[in-house]
Amino acid sequence: MTQLSFSSLSLKSELVSNLASLNYNEMTPIQAESLPLIIEGHDLIGQAKTGSGKTAAFGLGLLQNLDVTQFCVQSLILCPTRELADQVATEIRKLARGIQNIKVLTLCGGMPVRAQVSSLEHGAHIIVGTPGRVLDHLEKERLDLSQINTLVLDEADKMLEMGFQDAVDAIIEQAPKQRQSLLFSATFPKQIESIASKLLVNPKTVKVASTHSESSISQLFFNVPNDQRLAGLELLLMKYQPASCVVFCNTKIETLEVTDFLASCGFSALALNGDLEQKDRDQAIVRFANKSVSILVATDVASRGLDIDNLDAVINYQLAHDPDTHVHRIGRTGRAGSKGVACSLFSHNDSHKVVNIEDYLDMRIEESALPDDSVLNQAVYTPTMGTIRIGGGKKQKVRAGDILGALTGDTGIDSKHVGKINVFDHCAYVGVDKGVAAAALKKLENGKIKGKKYRAWRIR
Ligand code: ADP
Ligand code: MG
Repeated sequence: MTQLSFSSLSLKSELVSNLASLNYNEMTPIQAESLPLIIEGHDLIGQAKTGSGKTAAFGLGLLQNLDVTQFCVQSLILCPTRELADQVATEIRKLARGIQNIKVLTLCGGMPVRAQVSSLEHGAHIIVGTPGRVLDHLEKERLDLSQINTLVLDEADKMLEMGFQDAVDAIIEQAPKQRQSLLFSATFPKQIESIASKLLVNPKTVKVASTHSESSISQLFFNVPNDQRLAGLELLLMKYQPASCVVFCNTKIETLEVTDFLASCGFSALALNGDLEQKDRDQAIVRFANKSVSILVATDVASRGLDIDNLDAVINYQLAHDPDTHVHRIGRTGRAGSKGVACSLFSHNDSHKVVNIEDYLDMRIEESALPDDSVLNQAVYTPTMGTIRIGGGKKQKVRAGDILGALTGDTGIDSKHVGKINVFDHCAYVGVDKGVAAAALKKLENGKIKGKKYRAWRIR
């Protein structure tokens, strides 16, 4: 038994045996450092980069504290966005598979209130939600926190950035004093201290180094005057021809400008920012993840924590405001041994940011030269996949397997042409090779899914 083995912890046996079935064979570094403290009951501040396994760290902690026979809300997890809340809820349900009848409920803005009210009436053990909506339910006395034993703030920095400080404060006030509190954040700007002091009692702090010195990310920096940023971006995209790339901007307006420019060059690019309607955000993320769009032009807030990694390239159209965020951005590429490139454009007035990154990563940044114009002579990369939207989802009991079945069933298309399938409450998306997209659409329009007809559209 190694120190990294989950069985070295005094976790409930039903949790440990399920971890083996999930193929969680060893703890990740943040789990190894934080779980023993969490299980001992300490309050904790945890810092580690995206993808390091923070959800299981607090998720196992709160499941350990949970008494499934007590049918009341025992844990509350606050997340900055609905996507993150959904991811956290999914991970916790996975971790809780060994325990019968655990109810995990998400309460997020942008979702119908009425359905949440009725779910709340049916009761839940664990609530995962965004601060605004959770507070709304609290104020209307539809949610009772008096039996909470574990309170988690996930991605606390983003929550503050999104203006949730007051809502978070108000929620903390309604939680019982006797509880365990856990705060996770990728970065630690100053305001976190104020929330931390309200939330935590004698917290332990755990930090897992966030440098990528041993990874396979190559970082390149390009000194480009502001009025040539767009042209520089085009050169880089033409040189690397990434099938999946996130271009980071610092403002919402910039994401739109850059996306328009890229579209005018023929790239397959979508903007991802906080102004998008939920449906459009979902759709953008789905199309990027299923490889029918190759470039997402995003702000940090909109992209944070999304399960999109293993990018071929990350391009910082603007350098991040702080080095933590920079490291966070580039950490999305070159995961799991695959090779990735991180390109950063900077101009003269960004030099302090460059110095901060040098200090933080303890490295010397060399300027690289942009690719020369000859890269523009080749064709622009276009994705080989397309996306079809189907007008039925979980609420209609449509599952991924049903969609695959409808597509590939007799005289259908070969399953090797079918990509990712994402099922939402009232709709679903399926990625298919463009070559068979028309046939796939026809098959869905004319056929049935689980005996029922649904509308289907090609998304462009
Ligand atoms: P973070 O919140 O730190 O960004 P997540 O909690 O979302 O990271 O975890 C990233 C991925 O790693 C998830 O897909 C999760 O299922 C997986 N994971 C977490 N812990 C382990 C582990 N001990 N072994 C294998 N996979 C893990
Ligand atoms: Mg997370």
